[in-house]
Formats: sequence, C-alpha cells, structure tokens
Amino acid sequence: MKEYAFGVDIGGTTVKIGLFTTAGGLMETWEIPTRTENGGSLILGDIAESVKKKLEEMNISADDVEGIGMGVPGPVDEAGNVLKCANLGWGFFNVEKELGSLTGFKVKAGNDANIAALGEMWQGGGKGYKDIVMVTLGTGVGGGIILNEHILPGTNGAAGEIGHMTINEEEEETCGCGKKGCLEQYTSANGIVRVAKRYLAAHPDEKTALTMDLNSKILWDEVKKGDEVAVKISDEWGRIIGKGLALVSCVVDPQAFVIGGGMSKAGECITEKIKEYYKLYAFHASRDVEFRLATLGNNAGIYGGVKMVLD
Ligand SMILES: [Zn+2]
Repeated sequence: MKEYAFGVDIGGTTVKIGLFTTAGGLMETWEIPTRTENGGSLILGDIAESVKKKLEEMNISADDVEGIGMGVPGPVDEAGNVLKCANLGWGFFNVEKELGSLTGFKVKAGNDANIAALGEMWQGGGKGYKDIVMVTLGTGVGGGIILNEHILPGTNGAAGEIGHMTINEEEEETCGCGKKGCLEQYTSANGIVRVAKRYLAAHPDEKTALTMDLNSKILWDEVKKGDEVAVKISDEWGRIIGKGLALVSCVVDPQAFVIGGGMSKAGECITEKIKEYYKLYAFHASRDVEFRLATLGNNAGIYGGVKMVLD
C-alpha cells in the first residue's frame, strides 16, 4: 500500500478534493469550480491539474500515490462508465479510464450518494460495521447500501434509492421523481414541513408554538421543547420513516442505519424517534439494528472515494 490517495466529490458547482493518507487521515481539503460548459469536457482535466499541483506543493512523489477515488452525481456502473450526468453535461463514457489517462493514477468512481455511504462506513458514523444503509435526510431522501464493505450499485445504479419507495397510494402531489406518494414526500426536510403544514391546517384550534412559517429546524427545536403538536408531527414522521426502514431491513438486513443530511443536525432525537417506530414494524430478526448519526458531513464523499480506490 502506498502512502497517499486522493478523494474527489464532483458537485454541480464545485469539485471537492481531499488529500488523504491511506490509513484514512484527511490531510487537506480544497475546492475547484465545476466547469460545466462544453458538455463538461473540462472537468476531469481541471481535477488532474489540481491534483498535480497539490503533489508539487506538498513535495509528494507520484510513486507514493495509491490512486484517486471519485464520486459522481449520477449513476456509474461497475466498470466505471458514467451512464448520464445531466447536471454536468456528461453522456456515456468511462470516467475511470479518462481521468486515469490524464493523471497516470488508478481511478475508481461511483455514484456520489453511494460513495458517501462508503465513507461513513469507513471513517464516520458507521465505523466498525461492514453492512450499513446510509439514509440522507436533506431536501430529498437519499440512500446508499454497503454490504461487506462494498457499495451495492444495482443494475441501473439505483440500489439504495429508498426515498422513492411508494408508501402512500392516496397522495395527490407529485414527487420530484414524477411518482406520487414517495417516502421522501413525507420524511425529507421538505417532507416533514409539508406534513406539519397539513397537520396545522387540519387542526387550527390546537395550541402550539408552530406557525405555517416553519422549517425542519424550527420543528425539531419545538419537539425538543416538548411542544405537543410538534411531538405529534414528529411521531407521524417517525412512523412513516420507521416503517420505510423496516421494509429496507427485510431486504438488506444491515448491522446499522447511518442517518445523515441536513436534518440529522437535530441530533439524537432523530435516531431515537426512528428507532421507536422502526421496532414496531421490523421483522423480529432485524429488530435490534443500530441507528447512528453520520459524522463526516460534506466530507463523506471524499472519504468514500479514497476507501473505494484502496480496495
Ligand atoms: Zn419519488
């Protein structure tokens, strides 16, 4: 094993890059702009140049670099082919081969949500486990499945898309994916606000500090203060996501669920609420699964990239 590796996380506006020791230590992180013009054809060249510049600056020889692991905002197959990345302008091509020939390093790539899950398993909230399901509660609900320390990408790169499990046949509003009644419509940061507003509109006489001008942080702050309506809404949320994750357990049977994304900043009240309802719906063999908070934040992707290139 060589001494250093790079983790790269390509976003729609910036590319995050980290220089790591192969033991898992993050030495330095920086960002470069994502130049999406010309069909995104400049992005990999910019990354290659930035990596080379960092090696010179740190006086590190290319011979001491194990490789580059990269998260991409779209599906990537096991051979390193990007299937389509609309927000980067990319069509079908082999991103591993292309960055490999630009840098001379071994390159591994995966979908960004899956790579983040791998990072959390390696050095974050899932450290110590081999089988985890990462659940990201942000504007949507994302997911990633890690089995025996490896990403499960699925045939279409869609394994772990737990946010789009249909859980309500009666829903009339449409999810971002085009379906109706998806898990994320109720349980993401936007989803819990939607649930809360529906509740407030249906129960105008109940006494609460919550108003229609709310966000997920305000809601969880009121849950912590014991506001009865906020607690009821969080219970409804817990029932929906607890049931959803119990279904996931019936298929994946992980050691732990790692909960990340912006809403997880509310802390243990999130994992406690999920656990309370999960236990009601879980198959008996999977009832004692662990619930952990993610710890790497926006660095999860670069950690996961490095883990991927070390395997
Ligand atoms: Zn959906």
